Amino acid sequence: VKAQGKNSFQFYTKEINNRAVELLVLENDMHKAIKDQDFILYYQPQISLKDLSIVGVESLIRWHHPKKGMIPPADFIPLAEESGMIIEIGEWVLMESCRQAKEWLDKGYHFGRIAVNLSAKQFHRSNITQQVKAALESHQLPPEHLELEITESIAIENIDVTIETLKELKSLGIHLSIDDFGTGYSSLSYLKRFSIDKLKIDKSFVDDILIDDGGAAIATSTIALAHQMGLKVIAEGVETSDQCAFLQSHQCDEAQGYHISRPLNSSDTQTFFDQYNKQ
Ligand code: C2E
Ligand code: CA
Ligand code: CA
Ligand code: CA
Repeated sequence: VKAQGKNSFQFYTKEINNRAVELLVLENDMHKAIKDQDFILYYQPQISLKDLSIVGVESLIRWHHPKKGMIPPADFIPLAEESGMIIEIGEWVLMESCRQAKEWLDKGYHFGRIAVNLSAKQFHRSNITQQVKAALESHQLPPEHLELEITESIAIENIDVTIETLKELKSLGIHLSIDDFGTGYSSLSYLKRFSIDKLKIDKSFVDDILIDDGGAAIATSTIALAHQMGLKVIAEGVETSDQCAFLQSHQCDEAQGYHISRPLNSSDTQTFFDQYNKQ
């Protein structure tokens, strides 16, 4: 028993050391990635379900690792959060999104807004309002073309600070949305104190709208809730025309998902704009 206990302890510390080393290596890789421009943004179109026009694109980061190939955000954003690197990465995403949006505007594309994901640390541990202001100014992007997506879990971390920060951000003239709505633990009573414009129905509920009554009920109540509060609502992860038709018939304002388009690189996004408008 004693030997076993000792072994499992050794195993445990080894695991921790491995994890610490892994984190350090990755953190070092991420520093290098920013310098070497190995991060890239993909853009996923969002459309209006009223007139089918393009209303926005969501910026989604990808890491083109020199040895490991393309790494999806799920494999490094949590680590970047843990190590604090997310502040630097998030700042880059914001800058690059504003630069790209301005370029598209100058080329005459009417894509609406570019939506940028904010992480918890970025929202709470850095002067996010200053960062956003600087990004808009340095690329001369009119604020109405920028949207920030924050999750419910970010929002409830420190309610009073969140309310203040959202107010400040809103006063810049940008749009704000609550991402993955319904998956967190947010109390609905706070929602009305947040200066937000839109709720994003999480993919997990969209997946269920044609499968069970519960899924449909969550989606339709979110739409009703949003509208009663004067907010817009967008559904994410829309994969089929049936889901799209359901959402449309239940007055959901906007949709995003593989049914409309997968996330695309910059040049494919431009091609999407060109072809979509010709249809
Ligand atoms: P999210 O914000 O919920 O982004 C939506 C994710 O769903 C994206 O995955 C997108 O590619 C995927 N998706 C969109 N439509 C469909 C669909 O119809 N079917 C399916 N199966 N998937 C769909 P992605 O790009 O891998 O991003 C995953 C998560 O990583 C994002 O979830 C977001 O939380 C985070 N993330 C991505 N980019 C950034 C970033 O720049 N900053 C921060 N802080 N987080 C980011
Ligand atoms: Ca998002
Ligand atoms: Ca989402
Ligand atoms: Ca989601």
